Amino acid sequence: GRALVWLRRDLRVDDNAALHRALVAAREVWCVFLFDRDILDDLPAADRRVEFIHESVAELDRDLAALAAEHGRAGVRLIVGHGRPVAAIPELAAALGVEAVFANHDDDPAALARDAAVAAALGGTRLLTSKDHVVFERSEVLTATRTPYSVFTPYKNAWLKKLAPADLRAHAVRPHAGVLAPLPDRLPAAFAAGVPPLESLGFERTNLGELGIATGSSGGQHLLADFLDRIDDYEDARNFPAVKGPSYLSVHLRFGTVSIRELARVSWERTLAPGPAGARGAQVWLSELIWRDFYHQVLHHHPRVVGASFKPEYDAVAWESGPVARELFAAWCEGRTGYPLVDAAMAQINQTGYMHNRLRMVVASFLTKDLGIDWRWGEAYFARQLNDFDLAANNGGWQWAASTGCDAQPYFRIFNPVSQSEKFDPGGRFIRRYLPQLAALPDRAIHAPWDAAPLDLALADVELGRDYPLPVVRHDEARARTLARYSVVKAAR
Ligand code: FAD
Repeated sequence: GRALVWLRRDLRVDDNAALHRALVAAREVWCVFLFDRDILDDLPAADRRVEFIHESVAELDRDLAALAAEHGRAGVRLIVGHGRPVAAIPELAAALGVEAVFANHDDDPAALARDAAVAAALGGTRLLTSKDHVVFERSEVLTATRTPYSVFTPYKNAWLKKLAPADLRAHAVRPHAGVLAPLPDRLPAAFAAGVPPLESLGFERTNLGELGIATGSSGGQHLLADFLDRIDDYEDARNFPAVKGPSYLSVHLRFGTVSIRELARVSWERTLAPGPAGARGAQVWLSELIWRDFYHQVLHHHPRVVGASFKPEYDAVAWESGPVARELFAAWCEGRTGYPLVDAAMAQINQTGYMHNRLRMVVASFLTKDLGIDWRWGEAYFARQLNDFDLAANNGGWQWAASTGCDAQPYFRIFNPVSQSEKFDPGGRFIRRYLPQLAALPDRAIHAPWDAAPLDLALADVELGRDYPLPVVRHDEARARTLARYSVVKAAR
């Protein structure tokens, strides 16, 4: 038979579940990527993610052609379209005369609705989907009473207990690659061979290249190799934003330019390796990958977390709103709160589309618990800015920070932005990198410049209010307001 593989957030040839399944099942297989106008038409013209996808799709096209050539097939290209899935995918399927369309699961609510609409529009042609994006999905890891987990540690223990080598085995595509089919002479108007120029999609170049963010499977493999040289130090290094501690693979996981099975496999194998130090770094990293699965299954079982608190009683919390809150929110977005670590972190996300995990926790806590602003405002801002934006992880992270989500810690554990700064950026290296106007301050003055000795400020030529803002709130006062704000939850219990 003939089959079409519709690639979405799985932009790689190797170890791709849908591609593997199609190549095994069919005698002629085409692959398509559609630039989805339902998503893209709402984005600004300069969006790093669109450029990341564009570059990665171009590499995918080259990889597919090369793979087919190894198997003696010429004329194989990736079909690339620009349009709306519900119309374009059935049109292409009909033009190619395929019996089935293969794709990988995307469990975001909007993607599920899209896939249901496409499946209906395909009529007699079936849409067959596979797990690919996580190790365990949906209801694969449940409690003994068959309910979903809402606390991470027991989920992780059950996940590790369930894990067998077969769960991490790669879906080989090479032995079957001979069935990749050359393109027909004519394609529907919305499609062509390979990627069109970014500009023709209505987008422009960003600073992605300048930032050195490597795209495509080759970029993912490069980062993985680099990280595996450092993984033994991960447990300590990951907390310090000035240090190259984490893997920076999140954007690749987001768009599937790297396989989660491969990452879980290499780290899991390391946890079994002799030598306690080495095993530990890999264990902690694997645990982060399990957090990712965890938040995906939370979203699957509780789609209401999009827009509402995971713990419903927290919907009673009254957040600040009105002009003052809007101005404080703007100060947070633009990195002018007067708290150097918070402002440096916001400069990092605004300039690069990445933010270190420790800083995501710090700024999310600052927004909700120092400024009293609704976590949903921050979640939406991150969704626009992050290269690795992922609905499940972002929502989970924000609800965790706001204490409305899956967290075993009570709400009155409130991060102190100054002690976080002293602890995790002790030499102020991260702050100085993103706030050059504070670079000359000595370490003792950099975490809370408003408390600095006048001489320290004068010697560094820093005048607060001129070169750098005064703090927009006092942490101790904000803390008291937050405890009062959240007390409605306690009262409701
Ligand atoms: P590494 O430390 O190398 O971790 C490896 C991988 O594990 C990550 O790429 C990611 O896929 C996964 N991971 C790590 N920590 C978490 C976590 N807490 N939850 C879920 N998965 C995790 N991650 C996203 O991928 N997209 C988001 O939109 C996102 N938003 C966040 C918002 C907030 C408020 C918070 C606190 C965290 C958020 N995270 C998000 C989780 C985490 O901060 C990033 O995954 C991590 O910083 C990415 O960098 P890395 O790949 O170098 O991480």
